[in-house]
Amino acid sequence: GATIGIIGGGQLGRMLAAAAGRLGYGAVILEPQADCPAAQLASSQIVAAYDDHAALTTLAARCDVVTYEFENVPVGAARHLADHVPVFPPPRALEVAQDRLVEKRFLTEAGISTARHFSVDSDADLAAALAETGGCGVLKTRRLGYDGKGQRVFRNASPADAEGVFAAMGGVPLILEAFVDFSAEFSVIAARGLNGETATYEAARNEHRDGILRRSVVPSGLDPATLASARDATVALLEALGYVGVIGVEFFALPAGGFLANEFAPRVHNSGHWTEAACDVSQFEQHIRAVAGLPLGDPARHSDAVMENLIGDEVAKATALLAEPRLLLNLYGKHETRPGRKMGHFTRLSTPPHS
Ligand code: ATP
Ligand code: MG
Ligand code: MG
Repeated sequence: GATIGIIGGGQLGRMLAAAAGRLGYGAVILEPQADCPAAQLASSQIVAAYDDHAALTTLAARCDVVTYEFENVPVGAARHLADHVPVFPPPRALEVAQDRLVEKRFLTEAGISTARHFSVDSDADLAAALAETGGCGVLKTRRLGYDGKGQRVFRNASPADAEGVFAAMGGVPLILEAFVDFSAEFSVIAARGLNGETATYEAARNEHRDGILRRSVVPSGLDPATLASARDATVALLEALGYVGVIGVEFFALPAGGFLANEFAPRVHNSGHWTEAACDVSQFEQHIRAVAGLPLGDPARHSDAVMENLIGDEVAKATALLAEPRLLLNLYGKHETRPGRKMGHFTRLSTPPHS
């Protein structure tokens, strides 16, 4: 049978491997850490670094198509693979998503508004940018940040507060974003198939704590016109990237209506986990369908849903949750619990009032 290669062996790779298996595909994981969450559900694992060219060549030889579950796959590795086997989403999407400055420029080109932002490569750049933003902004590393890591918030800062910050942030390229006083955060999970067809899930409202996603809620209760135009923007982004697969786009809803795009992930997304419980076709199956060249599934929702992450010690309440009706639990099989580590999630369903 056909085999799908997945770079990255975390929980997203695990859920992709399960979805691939259900559609009759084998799944080969490339992941340096043996006994990773994905390997437990995959057909096999190649234990090697993501940029190990010999391992990538082996992966290409064993698979009909290769995808990935995290956005920091080295772009060189993805391009090397793409010389041997189809790689979806296209390496260009990785390249754009890996650098917040490139990402914002790409979004702007595609007609999608973002927060005002400034490239920061020194304390002097930061002082100038803080002056432009009235001293309020979020300073982020351009690369490799996730779960709010590599960020510093400035409130009513003066240019003098910039001193020493560039070095303290690691001496790496930074971006200062104007602080967005959003009324809510939401995300759109969407897919584009090999033939260009698209399918968009309903936008979810997302709540974060300590920089980590806690809950995603559908229906979001947000302004329908704002959500509709964010879905249009997401489809425009898929087209601009020549995308194949599932994408997750994060937005800030503005108090006066409308939105700004925050960032996108070229992969299945934590804020789309509710789809496995509340839709006939989950984001994971949708992604496998897209990269395998199958018809996309119906993204319609049959229930209202609230997805919650189980982070660190919270995983201890998992067994008690199983007593609840209309609750779907998903544990990632991680052997070690650490603070801030995503250990699993659950989705509570309820029936929409009109049905
Ligand atoms: P993820 O785990 O989603 O990849 P990340 O580390 O890439 O997160 P962001 O999504 O950029 O980080 O930011 C994390 C959170 O910080 C956002 O969800 C939002 O709550 C807040 N935030 C980020 N940028 C801004 C901004 N410009 N103005 C106000 N709040 C912001
Ligand atoms: Mg991010
Ligand atoms: Mg984010």
